[in-house]
Amino acid sequence: MAFELPELPFAPNALEPYMSEQTISFHYGKHHRTYVENLNKLIKGTDFEKMSLEEIVQKSQGKSEYAAIFNNAAQAFNHAFFWKCLCLEGKLPSGDMKEKIDRYFGSYDNFCEEFQNAAVSQFGSGWAWLVEDKSGKLSVIKTSNADTPIAHGLKPIVCVDVWEHAYYLDYQNRRADFVNTFINHLMKF
Ligand code: MN
Repeated sequence: MAFELPELPFAPNALEPYMSEQTISFHYGKHHRTYVENLNKLIKGTDFEKMSLEEIVQKSQGKSEYAAIFNNAAQAFNHAFFWKCLCLEGKLPSGDMKEKIDRYFGSYDNFCEEFQNAAVSQFGSGWAWLVEDKSGKLSVIKTSNADTPIAHGLKPIVCVDVWEHAYYLDYQNRRADFVNTFINHLMKF
């Protein structure tokens, strides 16, 4: 079964001025689409064809012979997840999630500072995440390239893409500005 590019959960210009329609058109319309199309080509005629995206990520993880399948499946998952973490002027955590953030980070502001530091300090391409482990503990992690929490038994809560393609058209080399804007104007819990 071939995977389809999931629909964007917002209009392509809905995040302006913080994330431009041009960025979305390349990031979603070209980059994300290419991961999905490459994955479909790579799994055609293999056992992976019968699996969900999550299963493909988990079964291909750490196996050099499946590196291309892992990279494209993980990026297909990561991008579909990232679009759900965005809305204009963002949405703060509430209820249980707000309580858990206070418990594990001390405050929402402390969480934001740790998340910003992870995103800015990720060397080269990658992602910053708020994740929950199997015991319910929250933490901030960063992953390189296509790597993804679901390959490590962690549940993603929110993430930011810090590959240059995520911000270069709008922020050029200013990753810290992009991440700060994401946290204050786009991050949706
Ligand atoms: Mn991306």
